Amino acid sequence: MLATTYRGPYRVRAQHVPEPSIEHPNDAIVRVTRSCICGSDLHLYHGLVPDTRVGSVFGHEFTGIVEAVGPSVRNLKVGDHVLVPFNIFCGSCYFCERELYGNCHNTNPEATAVGGIYGYSHTAGGYDGGQAEYVRVPFADVGPMAIPPDIDIEDAVLLTDALPTGYQAAEMGDIRKGDTVVVFGAGPVGLFAAKCAWLLGAGRVIVVDCVDYRLEFAKRFAQCETVDFRSVKDMAVHIKKMTDWLGADVCIDAVGAEASGNALQRITGVRLKLQAGAATALHWAINSVRKGGTVSIVGVYGPTFNAVPIGNAVNKGLTLRMNQASVKRHLPRLLEHIRAGHIVPRELITHRFPLEEVADAYHIFSSKLDECIKPVLVPPK
Ligand code: NAD
Ligand code: ZN
Repeated sequence: MLATTYRGPYRVRAQHVPEPSIEHPNDAIVRVTRSCICGSDLHLYHGLVPDTRVGSVFGHEFTGIVEAVGPSVRNLKVGDHVLVPFNIFCGSCYFCERELYGNCHNTNPEATAVGGIYGYSHTAGGYDGGQAEYVRVPFADVGPMAIPPDIDIEDAVLLTDALPTGYQAAEMGDIRKGDTVVVFGAGPVGLFAAKCAWLLGAGRVIVVDCVDYRLEFAKRFAQCETVDFRSVKDMAVHIKKMTDWLGADVCIDAVGAEASGNALQRITGVRLKLQAGAATALHWAINSVRKGGTVSIVGVYGPTFNAVPIGNAVNKGLTLRMNQASVKRHLPRLLEHIRAGHIVPRELITHRFPLEEVADAYHIFSSKLDECIKPVLVPPK
């Protein structure tokens, strides 16, 4: 089958690899109908995630049709069209019982932090991903959800990660009615976080980025104010000026690894081809939030060590909240928001590429070319 394989930093390829098969009685094999490329995949692509092995298959955001099920699978049947959360989780360990599906104990036993994630390096369990024609889905009774008949499949694929992650980013901000929320990053996650901040009661939403078309998109999609960080000398001062010199009530980091670019460059030896200034989102978030405020971090940081201005956070009495999104926990609520027309997730999909053209898709998404917001890969029929 055709699959997206990693060849080294800035190199992915659509390549023929063996089809997956049932390995455990609770596995399913899913024929992929749509898969997205995520900002998290860019961290892999940029070579920033440790233990990303050449030849591994990327992709953690996908929908597909169940092709085969193992003998102990009860909740799925062949032919079901499902959306599959990016977390791989058992549903019954200490962490899953607490709905911390991103920290499942049984899907990545060697790790102390993250659970299993499709197509996300051996630090996330070494599972192959869904930017492929077929994918093996472990614990198939637990993660996948049949796509309700009234839900568009391209809305469904955004329910596997980007929308729930944006929602959780806003939720972890503990937004109170009327709060000012600043979102760093106008990628899909930041855009959804901005939209969800309104749903959770924000009185003002400001999105920060440096990519013109994304800032314009943010204004239309999330009815927010925007800040182009290229034109700002001191972000904390700028945000304070906008907020009666108090600072934002809530700051959200929807940028991640590239935010500590210099440190990462030293650790990985990879030269980052990123926009100037892209080294500071988490610092800006900590420094721009008001005393006693909350910083919510969903940006992904590949290596375990990253530089953070923790002294400022302590002295300001901040609450820092963070995690991988616990996708399944948010699905019922988000389906209601979609049905009510509060959010049309597929509005973010700007590009559809045949799977064969995955190398172009990564290049365009990574380089912010052609007004790309969210690219979707469509496997051959
Ligand atoms: P993306 O790459 O499309 O968007 C990131 C945006 O941040 C870009 O528009 C970029 O121009 C902007 N940016 C770069 N430096 C910035 C800075 N200093 N200040 C403000 N903006 C800056 O990615 P995405 O798909 O939106 O994902 C965003 C982050 O969320 C990534 O780190 C991704 O790994 C992470 N993520 C986390 C989870 C989770 O469960 N926690 C899930 C999905 C994605
Ligand atoms: Zn993702």
